[in-house]
Amino acid sequence: MSALVLDGKTVSSAVKEEVAKEVKALSDKGTNSCLAVVIVGDDPASRVYVNNKKKACEVCGIKSLEYALSSSTTNEELLSLVKELNENPEVNGILVQLPLPKHLDEKLVIESIDPKKDVDAFHASNVGKIMIGEYDFLPCTPAGVMEIMKYYNIETEGKDCVVIGRSNIVGKPMAMLLLHANGTVTVTHSKTKNLKEICRKADILVAAIGKANFVTADMVKEGAVVLDVGINRLDNGKLCGDVDYINVSEVASAITPVPGGVGPMTIAMLMKNTLKATKLQNNC
Ligand code: NAD
Repeated sequence: MSALVLDGKTVSSAVKEEVAKEVKALSDKGTNSCLAVVIVGDDPASRVYVNNKKKACEVCGIKSLEYALSSSTTNEELLSLVKELNENPEVNGILVQLPLPKHLDEKLVIESIDPKKDVDAFHASNVGKIMIGEYDFLPCTPAGVMEIMKYYNIETEGKDCVVIGRSNIVGKPMAMLLLHANGTVTVTHSKTKNLKEICRKADILVAAIGKANFVTADMVKEGAVVLDVGINRLDNGKLCGDVDYINVSEVASAITPVPGGVGPMTIAMLMKNTLKATKLQNNC
């Protein structure tokens, strides 16, 4: 069997198209949408992500403001910029690109963002809302995984779902979204025993580990749906996921490639959250 390729580029284009339509309708009524992106330092990967976010804003008709700060920026300076953006009525969404340089307090910065403008959904109050299922914003990467499954009519109800990874930005919220979608969810991590056996029970397997080709074909049940969140750079400069794509494709019924799978979805969902923030702040 060769698995159906779940094409994140197609799904992300569809999401962005939908967002663009709504942004246009809002702007026709006089309400504009604006995302402020803050980048500190000169990490090349962060620069690529920020550029891609700005490009997506352009496609969707969302105004983007970039604040590029030097790597010697202090906590006080960064917090003062966030405060300014919180208070600026023109700004609907605030995104501080992570990771921040080591001397900065990431937690403090995230908690300083107005939850109504927290389009990454990393603020504790937004995380708590996700837990109880009454959220305004969903974290972009797990929401992107769910959107791919929705697009391809992949049923989650009653399915055995296994998430590998328990980070605050991917693994944990991913498990929560699958649970809200009536999956029976198991979260696994670096201390999990019998990982292979657990993974082999999964109808839906989500890999968010950060280790190239970690998920091998013998860990996957015949016919499972495999969603690969991992982005790893190989020594030859190529990107690859956490899943051994070629061999797992022979076992799975559907699989996301890397690149071109979950990655493009993350940015599309950020656009969706910025639109949502704009609507919430303008009561429309
Ligand atoms: P992280 O390092 O915070 O978490 C990794 C998780 O993997 C941990 O919870 C850990 O327990 C688990 N893990 C590590 N070794 C393991 C093992 N041997 N067995 C089982 N579990 C193990 O990483 P993260 O931020 O969650 O990101 C995970 C991957 O997803 C990375 O490759 C990252 O680049 C990628 N990512 C992609 C997107 C996207 O837009 N596609 C967004 C965020 C992260």
